[in-house]
Amino acid sequence: MSRAYNFSAGPAALPESVLRQVQEEMLEWQGERASVMEVSHRGKAFVECAAAAERDLRELMAIPDDYHVLFLQGGATTLAALLPMNLAGADATADYVLTGHWGEKALDNARPLLRTNIAASGKAGGYVDIPPVGEWQLTPGAAFVHYTPNETIHGIEFRDIPDVGDVPLVADVSSNFMSAPIDVSRFGVLYGGAQKNLGPSGLAIAIVRKDLLGRHGRALPPIFELQNQAKNDSMFNTPPTFAWYVLGLVLKWAREQGGTAAIGERNRRKAELLYSAIDGSGGYYRNAVAPAARSWMNVPFFLPDAALDKPFLQEAEAAGLLGLKGHRAVGGMRASIYNAMPEAGVQALVDFMADFARRHG
Ligand code: PMP
Repeated sequence: MSRAYNFSAGPAALPESVLRQVQEEMLEWQGERASVMEVSHRGKAFVECAAAAERDLRELMAIPDDYHVLFLQGGATTLAALLPMNLAGADATADYVLTGHWGEKALDNARPLLRTNIAASGKAGGYVDIPPVGEWQLTPGAAFVHYTPNETIHGIEFRDIPDVGDVPLVADVSSNFMSAPIDVSRFGVLYGGAQKNLGPSGLAIAIVRKDLLGRHGRALPPIFELQNQAKNDSMFNTPPTFAWYVLGLVLKWAREQGGTAAIGERNRRKAELLYSAIDGSGGYYRNAVAPAARSWMNVPFFLPDAALDKPFLQEAEAAGLLGLKGHRAVGGMRASIYNAMPEAGVQALVDFMADFARRHG
């Protein structure tokens, strides 16, 4: 067995028990005499599997009844365009708060669809901190405020939900989906790709307050009209059935872990372990993000000299630690420590880092 600890930013590590169950059920699923990938999404077995995943997600995240949970294709990026289309008309204004790369991308996808305002941006400072909420230039009567609670590349995470009054908050939670308890009722929309904390790529999930849909007044192709997915239990067209099935297994695993409170507590411990290793390395390793804005999910760090990056990655791989190369926009290293990364994996990384620093000091 040569499975390694995988620190990839996404698609990312899945719980091993989930992969084993997928393997066991690959040829014959639920007495269907076929795999889950080979049966109709409208058949009883899949409809039940899909509904169970929705129930489990609603229970784990305590999603109120006045929210739809949509299971969609197209990733978070498609939703970054579909949501502005569905939440407001072309004359409306939406506020965007930029704390990294993905906020910028969401804004790019909204720009052709409605008026946009950059309410705050950390770009000038190199995205190492969250602009203070009190200084955000919010538009009175905006259709929504979009932000990215966890910026995957820059490793910046909000610890608190910003207060934007009555304007619906739209949050791209791709890289911190279900990573800790969250008060869903504070949001208009939570959305993200599944491929970090929840399952394989190919599935995106949107948790949308019901009253926000169907008010945009635009002529949309029916497939872009999220109301149609909401009315059809996300089966207006063929959903990503395999990814939805794996999501269901990941959610069962999450329940076995003790739910979001236990998962959040473990994520906090994992992040503390890694950040203290960085901060306690006598300046050998360095993380540039303001301590209060440091992500529990994605931890970028630098070595004393970029020439050490290659040996670090090679030796890490040999030690069974994968996916540590930083995003090219930031450089250095990045350890993504999503829900499925066990504490032992972070401990192995921290041990390796100390050993590497000793040998290459
Ligand atoms: N938003 C965030 C925060 C992300 O991390 C990513 C993917 N890394 C995306 C959006 C884009 O997601 P997708 O590839 O599913 O469109």
